[in-house]
Amino acid sequence: MKKLKKLAVLLLALCFASLLTLTAAGATSRAVYMIVNGVPLVSSEAYINENGITMVPLRAVAEALGLSVSWNRETRTVSIVSEDGEHRPVVMLDPGHGGSSPGAVYGGVKEKNLNLAIAKQTREVLEEAGVLVLMTRTGDQDVGLYERTELAAGWCADLFVSIHCNASLDNPEAMGIYTCARGKDSDGWEMADTLRKTMIASTGAANVGTFERPNLAVLRTATMPAALVECGYMSTPAELAQLVQSEYQTQLARGIADGILAALEADFNWTPAEETEETEEETEEETEQAEQDT
Ligand SMILES: [Zn+2]
Repeated sequence: MKKLKKLAVLLLALCFASLLTLTAAGATSRAVYMIVNGVPLVSSEAYINENGITMVPLRAVAEALGLSVSWNRETRTVSIVSEDGEHRPVVMLDPGHGGSSPGAVYGGVKEKNLNLAIAKQTREVLEEAGVLVLMTRTGDQDVGLYERTELAAGWCADLFVSIHCNASLDNPEAMGIYTCARGKDSDGWEMADTLRKTMIASTGAANVGTFERPNLAVLRTATMPAALVECGYMSTPAELAQLVQSEYQTQLARGIADGILAALEADFNWTPAEETEETEEETEEETEQAEQDT
């Protein structure tokens, strides 16, 4: 990690140096001299391009710092790894729909907004556990179906979970948690089934089941274990009344996060680190609470 910090400092210094160069001489294409840990990188060709942007060869710098660099042409991913680097799991959460695609709409409630609210709360729980969480959208914008799994592949996500709410056209009383994966033989099946259980445990909602959905675009195109969860039926007024409640969304998020943490342990043998800092924070919070109470 120290090495990465050094790299960041070096890159910042270079950017700053380029600004100085530009303001001082107004140059647009002068050579840039690169020094890494005090050693000149003579063979590398850093330069300022026509737009005044300093271009630094990442590979040369990283390898000079003892890091290994790889490039995946298909996903357009640059991966830099240090020997002592610890892999932190990366989870891509995919709040369904967004922008011009509202998803199901019942009683003036749009599915896209419920999905985003639940996903954001799920992210919070996972981040607290030390998981690196990415989202296909964090606001109300259009995201293509293929773009969603492309993002997950590009960022080398370990797991992909799409979050939706359900609707039934023929059963006005349908209620409960529905999860799915590409197929029973897919690497997302266990996670989908676990998610169903953890979401039911956290919410007390009815059990609809875990299903094979080989034709859903996000499940079909995901290159990592992928599952899709349906948090409840918007078409059933009683369940819609729950889905719009922030507290119920918190329970759903807790259930989704629990399922994802279980999948991280099952698939990657990863468990949240027990931090001593956390207990200190808790104690601080408790003290604050006690002070407020008095
Ligand atoms: Zn949906």
